[in-house]
Amino acid sequence: MPSLRRARTVGFLAAIPLLLPGCMMHRPSAGEPVSLAIVNARVWTGDPRRPWADAVAVRGERIAAVGSSAEVRKMAVSTTRVVDAKGQMLVPGFQDSHVHFIDGGFRLASVQLRDARTPAEFIARVKAFAATQPKGSWITGGDWDHEQWGGELPQRSWIDSVTPDNPVWINRLDGHMSLANSAALRAAGVTRSTADVAGGTIVRDASGEPTGILKDNASWLVDQHVPPPSEAQNDRALDAATRYVAARGVTSVHNMGTWDDLATFERARAAGRLITRIYAVVPLASWARLRDTVAARGHGDAWVRIGGLKGFVDGSLGSHTAAFLQPFTDAPNDSGLLVNTPRDLYDWTSGADRAGLQVIVHAIGDRAIRTQLDIFERVAREDGPRDRRFRIEHAQHIAPPDIARFSSLGVIASMQPYHAIDDGRWAEKVIGPERIRTTYAFRSLLESGARLAFGSDWFVAPPTPLEGIYAAVTRRTLDDRNPNGWVPEQKIGVEDALRAYTLGGAYASFREKDMGSIERGKLADLTLIDRDLTRIPPETIRDAQVVMTIVGGRVVYERGAAGSAPQE
Ligand SMILES: [Zn+2]
Repeated sequence: MPSLRRARTVGFLAAIPLLLPGCMMHRPSAGEPVSLAIVNARVWTGDPRRPWADAVAVRGERIAAVGSSAEVRKMAVSTTRVVDAKGQMLVPGFQDSHVHFIDGGFRLASVQLRDARTPAEFIARVKAFAATQPKGSWITGGDWDHEQWGGELPQRSWIDSVTPDNPVWINRLDGHMSLANSAALRAAGVTRSTADVAGGTIVRDASGEPTGILKDNASWLVDQHVPPPSEAQNDRALDAATRYVAARGVTSVHNMGTWDDLATFERARAAGRLITRIYAVVPLASWARLRDTVAARGHGDAWVRIGGLKGFVDGSLGSHTAAFLQPFTDAPNDSGLLVNTPRDLYDWTSGADRAGLQVIVHAIGDRAIRTQLDIFERVAREDGPRDRRFRIEHAQHIAPPDIARFSSLGVIASMQPYHAIDDGRWAEKVIGPERIRTTYAFRSLLESGARLAFGSDWFVAPPTPLEGIYAAVTRRTLDDRNPNGWVPEQKIGVEDALRAYTLGGAYASFREKDMGSIERGKLADLTLIDRDLTRIPPETIRDAQVVMTIVGGRVVYERGAAGSAPQE
């Protein structure tokens, strides 16, 4: 999903070294007491050498011991906070490997259209929100989904009469198309004589007049006219985002964003405001700038890390802009579009790889995935072996022969399970019964030896790993029409999903030595859940609740505690 930084509402509107048998001791720095001890827990460590334990001791930012409750209790001193987990499940802190973090933060205070089920409800919500906004301010965000009411695309005529004083530029939840009202089109100078844009679409009515819908690269025609947010607005949006995901057990995110995002993260880092660790990924075409930045000041630290570059091959399924080898089943003359040329993608990937950087590319349709796998294969051959960890983001619809290429080329599949139970409501209509067999092909990828990293693509989907685990394990679609799972042969187990939300994300961001499992010496990033996900019926996983989130040994969210953001 392209970053929508460029558009939003201005109203936002914003702690004795004992040698204990069987206990894995961290060599403590002199005199520092154990600050936190979690005992009587079901500790899922993610460490194959010791998959389960009962207790964890934390000293400063790091894990001092993993072992039995008795051993850990012995390490506690008077200042230690001892948490009796009462058999609840402790896992490594959740990593969300794909977010649009600051956009997500802005969304929290924008017009909410995600669950608008009818055109009438859509219009009513826009009207109600516009009434709360200063005259002349842009209304953005929204995250509407026309599939909620059967697929008819909204038009500017729907909302013009209820938004006379505000330009409106509201996006579909996938970010690959947006609706402008007439005020916004006027502000952007978009008329019937505006030329089409390569890699994008201006949707027009029978008379050639723009309906208000602009897709992919055509979106820029309006984006560039939306006033950018101030630093203070970005800071408030970031703080709202970190609180929001902390309440969902997330300790680290991989932000698919911009250099402005990075500047916002670094401001928060410098001010000591961060409670979420961030892998700050910037646009692929800017690889030379990143090379120079890394050369000048390294990859950052455990709070803000840099080194990754994100590019795009195609659009999305929901907007019929994902690139396929064969036409869409419901649009036989259309097989999607490439938003960048293979030539450019090769040049950027090659340049970035030779600069020692990580290349991360959005590819959704089977033609887009094959195009980028071919480029990865060629670049790896030309540049020789190195620990490069190429990533394909989304990887939603893989042609069967390409599944094995992920593991053979060492390409990480960075996927968003919640999309599967969302798109599963209507995807077969768009790509047919054959192509859905290898759609969100989690099991096929795992069985072929590929590495998975899970995430949400927030704001496109909720940044809630427990819902993502539920989605990957049950594949029960949001309309409850697939009780045994949509494409059930692609279901995976709870521990596979947990691993993809923990170590998988750490590995995909070159941070597995420091996080992603509960092991002595690693950063104390931990998530406490109110039930053992491996011992409950899978369909109840989404009812599980986060009880506590800990980052670097500090409790950043505690259910029911004063000041803790709600989980709703
Ligand atoms: Zn995205």
